Amino acid sequence: MDCVFCKIVAGEMPGDIVYQDEGLIAFRDINPMASTHLLIIPKKHITSLVDLSEAESSLIGDMVKVANQLAKREGISESGYRLVINCGEQGGQLVPHLHLHLLGGRQLSGALG
Ligand code: AMP
Ligand code: ZN
Repeated sequence: MDCVFCKIVAGEMPGDIVYQDEGLIAFRDINPMASTHLLIIPKKHITSLVDLSEAESSLIGDMVKVANQLAKREGISESGYRLVINCGEQGGQLVPHLHLHLLGGRQLSGALG
């Protein structure tokens, strides 16, 4: 499949991987918007939130749990951070493989779009 994130999961493309478990992987965003900018993704290809089946919906909780752990590891738990999932064209999703952004390490703007 011609999916950049699937290629990172498969080890066919380099990625600065910071976490892996059975179902999820996390790596540093290639174009970071803050000193901490990680992407947490399911290893399985799911295109976007809109394609998430009911059976798969518990993945989102797993992704948030990992993001919270990584925020601690990055030392931004106390200062604060933001979790974002963009969905579809008008939601600003550029990579069509479900991913959760973890952003922190600076004062983020209050604007959400
Ligand atoms: P989104 O707009 O929510 O689809 O965000 C996609 C994110 O993936 C952007 O922040 C990109 O900088 C990031 N990105 C794209 N390609 C790569 C890559 N090969 N490795 C790491 N991050 C990437
Ligand atoms: Zn994929």
